[in-house]
Amino acid sequence: MRAGAREMLNDPRSHGLWERTAPPPPPTERLAGDVAADVAIVGAGYTGLSAALHLAERGLGVAVLEAVEIGFGAAGRSTGLVNAGLWVMPTVFKEILGPVYGQRLLDLLRDSPRTVFDIVEKHQIPCELKRAGTIHCGAGAKGAMEIRERARQWQELGAPVHVLEADATRAKTGTAHFPASMLDLRAGTIQPLAYVRGLGRAAISAGARVFTGSPVERLERAGDGWQLTTPGGSVRARKVLLSTDTYTTHIMPKLRTQQIVVPFFHIATTPLSDNVRRTILPEGQGAWDTRTVPSAFRTDEAGRLIVGSAGAIRGTGVAVHRAWAERRIRNVFPQLTEVRFEHEWYGRIGLTSDHLPRLHAPAENLIALAGYNGRGIAPGSVFGRELARHLAGEVALGEMFLPVTTAESAPFRALRQGYYELGAQIAHLPPVR
Ligand SMILES: Cc1cc2nc3c(=O)[nH]c(=O)nc-3n(C[C@H](O)[C@H](O)[C@H](O)COP(=O)(O)OP(=O)(O)OC[C@H]3O[C@@H](n4cnc5c(N)ncnc54)[C@H](O)[C@@H]3O)c2cc1C
Repeated sequence: MRAGAREMLNDPRSHGLWERTAPPPPPTERLAGDVAADVAIVGAGYTGLSAALHLAERGLGVAVLEAVEIGFGAAGRSTGLVNAGLWVMPTVFKEILGPVYGQRLLDLLRDSPRTVFDIVEKHQIPCELKRAGTIHCGAGAKGAMEIRERARQWQELGAPVHVLEADATRAKTGTAHFPASMLDLRAGTIQPLAYVRGLGRAAISAGARVFTGSPVERLERAGDGWQLTTPGGSVRARKVLLSTDTYTTHIMPKLRTQQIVVPFFHIATTPLSDNVRRTILPEGQGAWDTRTVPSAFRTDEAGRLIVGSAGAIRGTGVAVHRAWAERRIRNVFPQLTEVRFEHEWYGRIGLTSDHLPRLHAPAENLIALAGYNGRGIAPGSVFGRELARHLAGEVALGEMFLPVTTAESAPFRALRQGYYELGAQIAHLPPVR
């Protein structure tokens, strides 16, 4: 059996619908014996594989070590909204990072979906790509205000975003639930596991070696480089990139513990009838809203409606979140008279204290990027490309898009995470009448 495949397939709640409809991953092996590379990359998600692809295209020897399978982390579980920027408003970049880094990060991310679309096109990745934009829906009067401000900020920067009033929002989404929304024409949707598997295939075709089922358990200095040890072997490399983010295990646990982990689930219906399907997001945009416990909705190529929100599909969360999803769909899309669910899955979103990602360089020739705050498809693809430029010696650390910081564990982490998981269940309980 292919390395890693069993681990994904054994748990239908890890990758759910995406595992069922993605093309198979490229063939990979577990690491066996000792291997040498110019650059070792730990983690095969958007970040690691984009870096591997761009390094291999430059002719460097790359070894990617993935604990489980390509896309096992957040990449293979995400909603698949390919959005520009980050969750924070555009002006926040400079407020937090200052004028130099704030501007660099904004410049890099303002049109970041294009990088994903270019990769998909260049490498012919079959991933249900739709370039119809995404719709950020304002919930209530406060949400509508937030949307207008976000749109204003992007418009000032020349971005093709449009405020849709209630009628236009209803026409695009199929629901009368929102007073206003922002249509972002830079954005789009993908089948996220299919995209990350395609990235893996492209990286391998370009010459990268990808080892799955190969958790890195030790990372040690070796001469002027590094040795990475897995249960089956080791890699010696001059430079190392850690792209393990919220799913970090074994090495540098602070990458994970600097984040507050919030679970986020999806539930997918059976394919909708053609009549109903024509009324819900008829142009194929993905959407999400501004509520404190946000919900997302989109369709897939077969016409299933997928809803997502904060929470874990485990323990008491199974019944609570399922019942919420059914109520939410009936409420938001009353035209869907019969709601039947087919798939449910969840993953971990890691929040940093200021909702910005972090770049670390804890030792010479060792860098790490983590903390996507639920916005990693386009940023991960772009950051991977930029990290490759740095690892190839083309860009100095000080010229990068983020300042180098030290990872520190978030205070009261366990307590805050428990609060979020329980809070999501409480928020999803039926309203008391
Ligand atoms: C439910 C959900 C919905 C989301 N929706 C969206 C969305 O719609 N749009 C968007 O832009 N973003 C979304 N995100 C965020 C996005 O998925 C992440 O930001 C992104 O996947 C981060 O990519 P990454 O490559 O850095 O890390 P990951 O994709 O998490 O990959 C890290 C990998 O590292 C591996 N690893 C960890 N430790 C080791 C080790 N010791 N040795 C070897 N391998 C190791 C893991 O197994 C994992 O495969 C969502 C996330 C979740 C969970």
